[in-house]
Amino acid sequence: MGQYKNIVILTGAGISAESGVATFRDNDGLWEKHRIEDVATPEAFARDPDLVQRFYSLRRRQLNEVEPNAAHKALAKLQRELDGKVTIITQNVDDLHERGGGTNIIHMHGELRKVRCKACSSVHDWREDCAQETECPSCGRAPSLRPHIVWFGEMPFFMDRIAEYLAECDLFISIGTSGNVYPAAGFVAEVRAKGNAHTIEVNLEPSEGASMFAEHRHGKAGELLPALVEELLN
Ligand code: NAD
Repeated sequence: MGQYKNIVILTGAGISAESGVATFRDNDGLWEKHRIEDVATPEAFARDPDLVQRFYSLRRRQLNEVEPNAAHKALAKLQRELDGKVTIITQNVDDLHERGGGTNIIHMHGELRKVRCKACSSVHDWREDCAQETECPSCGRAPSLRPHIVWFGEMPFFMDRIAEYLAECDLFISIGTSGNVYPAAGFVAEVRAKGNAHTIEVNLEPSEGASMFAEHRHGKAGELLPALVEELLN
């Protein structure tokens, strides 16, 4: 399997599940006891900004209590050994890929440990809670800060770069994603339309888009990834 020169890996909430970070859809459409439409849309932020700020502050705090798992570490090993040939595109807003040793991580849905100023557009690394009264460190205005998160209905980040990576890859692996959040759910179709890349899905169960993949591995990412990475390196 060691013949690949451009590997693109798409990850979703499932890769962080074994670290103790709740996924979106494994619990009746509730995410940490909230409906997604109450905390993860621009309309929700306009309606109840305090609730949304509190929700993301709690998610941010939760990152202090979780650690990268064997799946994050296996991907980091793949990146180290195949220097420059492996790009990770993640839908996750946690930083477990980075803490697991990963590099070249594209956070298409933003990052929990960042906030953005709606007034001056500055982006800040952020480890603390953020509230409506918190002033922007750059322009001093408040309320002006929001989570640096791509909410439903907003445009994901880095789409041009992602399109280039997808066009050039010869192996596309999707890990721990349910296949119903677009545009990420459409990446496998884009890869297949552009070339002869091999495609592998790694997920607890067949995702909505499972039939688009040439190869499937079903089970826990933390158990399957170390073996898959060894196969790719041998
Ligand atoms: P999702 O919750 O819709 O789906 C998760 C998928 O992972 C499911 O298909 C599930 O069967 C699978 N899964 C669960 N445990 C697994 C395991 N141990 N190993 C392998 N697969 C497992 O998640 P998604 O597709 O990433 O949905 C996209 C949205 O979820 C994104 O917008 C993302 O920002 C957001 N989200 C991110 C986080 C995070 O950053 N960790 C957490 C929750 C939601």
